[in-house]
Amino acid sequence: MSQPVSIAVVGSGYVGLVAAACFAEIGHKVICVDNDESKVKMLREGGVPIHEEYLPELLARHRGTNIEFTSDLRSATKRAQAIFIAVGTPQSKTGSADLSYVDAVASEIARSIDDYKVIVEKSTVPVYTNEWIRRVVERNGVARELFDVASNPEFLREGTAVVDFIHADRIVIGVENDKAGQVLRDIYAPLTSGEYFKLDHAVPGDLTADTPPALLQTSTKAAELIKHASNAFLAMKISFINVVSNVCEAVGADVEQVSKGMGMDSRIGPKFLKAGIGYGGSCFPKDVAAFRYVAEQLGVDFDLLKEVEEINEEQKSRFFQKVRSALWTFRSKKVGVLGLAFKGGTDDIRESPALDIVHSLLKEGCSVVAFDPAAIDRTKEVIPPSEKMQYVNDAYAAAQDADALLILTDWHEFAELDLAKLHYTLRYPIIIDGRNLYDPAQMIEAGFTYLSVGRPAAQ
Ligand code: NAD
Repeated sequence: MSQPVSIAVVGSGYVGLVAAACFAEIGHKVICVDNDESKVKMLREGGVPIHEEYLPELLARHRGTNIEFTSDLRSATKRAQAIFIAVGTPQSKTGSADLSYVDAVASEIARSIDDYKVIVEKSTVPVYTNEWIRRVVERNGVARELFDVASNPEFLREGTAVVDFIHADRIVIGVENDKAGQVLRDIYAPLTSGEYFKLDHAVPGDLTADTPPALLQTSTKAAELIKHASNAFLAMKISFINVVSNVCEAVGADVEQVSKGMGMDSRIGPKFLKAGIGYGGSCFPKDVAAFRYVAEQLGVDFDLLKEVEEINEEQKSRFFQKVRSALWTFRSKKVGVLGLAFKGGTDDIRESPALDIVHSLLKEGCSVVAFDPAAIDRTKEVIPPSEKMQYVNDAYAAAQDADALLILTDWHEFAELDLAKLHYTLRYPIIIDGRNLYDPAQMIEAGFTYLSVGRPAAQ
């Protein structure tokens, strides 16, 4: 078996907590740090603050043995050989990434370094951040030979985060010398050697002991750029297919057929070619903006990314116009909404296109009755329940006596609704599907007026 490494993970959010649980799962000793005392308390008491498949099981398996929780970064730093920074890097007013949390954590780490440590950027950060962290640590009086700064960007997707982490397409480590590279290779060895996949309790997924994840070692700058360029490229793919869907609507073709035909080309691939109401979430919008900002600062023309952003905004407006075309007027209408999270499988509502549409409906004077399998509590914090905004516990309650039903998030369960029941539950049998979860022919058969994205309307 590989040797355990002592690891501190700073930031116990979607990335930090999942990474910490997975590091514990593959045999390391992990201290999970957060400055949100209530989160630390909840985690210590057995709670799980986010909705992610397998995360509760992993935390239950390792809590008190391989993983512990604290708000004391300094003592965690002293005990760890590798310290992963996984705090937020939100968008600032200029579009650039706000790195103040990373800066604060780096200074605090520096105050407790007394033997060799590898400080690892796990957060998504612009190129040169590595350099800045090094400077901050040195400014705080730490000798150069006592630390290295490495980059290990994270590619997990919310909703499938644990599986993505363990069964990664690739693990990228950006280092400037082999000493730091060795620490990171040791950390991932249980995965890259295939050892972990031989265990009975291994998290299921595509990879096996014979096909373990690939590890790519690069410079720190290249690793930072791999993350930004990957997210920008995926956002571009979504915006591309969304424009194609608009062309499809204009000529009466079905975008699902078009994207299937495109995706069968192995040079293109089928993923992220799903037309819809635009991308959202805590990553794509801010990472596209941050990458654009980086290019601009370097004097590189990357207006392509500006276009990607504009298309994304336009896609939400187009969907809203579709709702208007079905309802005619909004005031005093009641609209059922299925989905608040930015995508299925998560409770994350950050930059959710679904919420933008709910806000527009409320602004126009509609009443909204919403259901989401995981994101209601978080949504209530930004749109409190009121006479105009109600939250219910299942999809049929959202449809009850509604003038139309909107599907805004691609939860699996929204694709498996009892259509006959929906038909008699709705006031008018109108469904406007922003995620193309149903076959238009099936919806006509079931008696609905059905509008979706990039496909001929069915009524
Ligand atoms: P998050 O907001 O869910 O979590 C960040 C955590 O850091 C919070 O719990 C916060 O309390 C904690 N924190 C902030 N300042 C701290 C400090 N000084 N000391 C200790 N803890 C502190 O964020 P996230 O979604 O996990 O994202 C973290 C980073 O990972 C971002 O850079 C993001 O772009 C990147 N990323 C996110 C995803 C994703 O799907 N969410 C995927 C890949 C990469």
